[in-house]
Amino acid sequence: MTSEDLFQRARRTIPGGVNSPVRAFRSVGGTPFFTESAQGAILTTADDRNLIDFVCTWGPAIHGHNDPDIREAVADALSKGTSFGTPGPLEVDMAEAVVERVPSVEKVRMCNSGTEATMSSIRLARGFTGRDKIVKFIGCYHGHVDSLLVQAGSGALTLGKPDSAGVPASFAAETILCPYNDFAAISEIFEQYGEQIAAVIVEPYPANCGLILPKEGYLPHLREVTQQHGSLLIFDEVMTGFRLAMGGVQEREGITPDLSAFGKVIGGGLPVGAFGGRAEIMDYLAPDGPVYQAGTLSGNPLAMAAGLAALKKLNTEVFEGLETAGLMIAEALRAEAAQLGIPLCINQAGSMFALFFGREKVESFADVQASETEKFSKFFHAAMDEGVYLPPSAYETCFLSTAHDQEILDRAISSLTAALRRVA
Ligand code: PMP
Repeated sequence: MTSEDLFQRARRTIPGGVNSPVRAFRSVGGTPFFTESAQGAILTTADDRNLIDFVCTWGPAIHGHNDPDIREAVADALSKGTSFGTPGPLEVDMAEAVVERVPSVEKVRMCNSGTEATMSSIRLARGFTGRDKIVKFIGCYHGHVDSLLVQAGSGALTLGKPDSAGVPASFAAETILCPYNDFAAISEIFEQYGEQIAAVIVEPYPANCGLILPKEGYLPHLREVTQQHGSLLIFDEVMTGFRLAMGGVQEREGITPDLSAFGKVIGGGLPVGAFGGRAEIMDYLAPDGPVYQAGTLSGNPLAMAAGLAALKKLNTEVFEGLETAGLMIAEALRAEAAQLGIPLCINQAGSMFALFFGREKVESFADVQASETEKFSKFFHAAMDEGVYLPPSAYETCFLSTAHDQEILDRAISSLTAALRRVA
């Protein structure tokens, strides 16, 4: 069955034909392809096309698709049973692995998605501080948590529905919005509401509106104002954790948040989330503390096995290799764009990068919105024709994996530069 046929069928029984909105290609137009299988850096579609994958299942596949070590670990766990509903040894291994790798995390609780991780972090911050308000940044996406679906990024942005229907205004009223990279704005918010703010939640490198990097001193500024006012700083490292460094952005930038949310890489491609931080805060969780949080499948043995195998394969050398690969792609595209005389800003950090057409510099969400998204859509389709799958939205980030070896990178560069020439 072709992708077209599958999509027709899917639309009859799945809302919009997809189980997550961005997959429907609404932002770039056209019919989404269906993936039959994936190996290393390559997706094989239902139409028998092989595409170089720059989405990597939206981040998790840092070792490429169908990694043999992860597969073996899952198969081994599978032979022992798929879910126990009791504690299992792999959960302890996982908690120790996280605590060992992320210095700000003394205790960690596993859950099943990034959304659960941020939702529970927020509840925990409110329970711990006894305060209700939270600060979130415009354009940051933290999953489909009611109180965080306020001027969110990712699918919520590209679909032009920053505020979802079904979120009570009273929930959103507890969320204070702040522009990222604006030093004065966050200070003003704290001057006005400081005593009521439970936490500031931030993607330390916002990556659901393309990719924005912090201005010098911005993350330390967030750390300072939160500390001054007894509010918690929550780093949402669902995308960046175990991807941009072993200890995520907090390691790269030398910042110690109070709580962190994880997902994606930590699940090795299975559905996993996690949140952790200072023991004093984490001990507020049930059963020791008053903040309720739970999950039938949390700490699932297959997911733990996959995640542990993924974490074990990461080391400094791997991160250096990914940094080099990211730089190589970014520089090749910048050079081609300069040659063609098209303004193109590429923000890159390690194995993540985003393209902004029509911009020289992108440091804020307003800059992102001023970029030429239609040009991105044309580029997306040109890249697909040339055999490279990019995220199907101008507001998403590209991901690389260790399976993107030199041969794949060379092919990708030649395809993407050809695509640039086609849209110039
Ligand atoms: N936080 C961030 C920073 C994310 O990028 C995402 C998903 N892209 C989430 C939270 C939500 O994770 P999930 O889709 O697993 O619920």
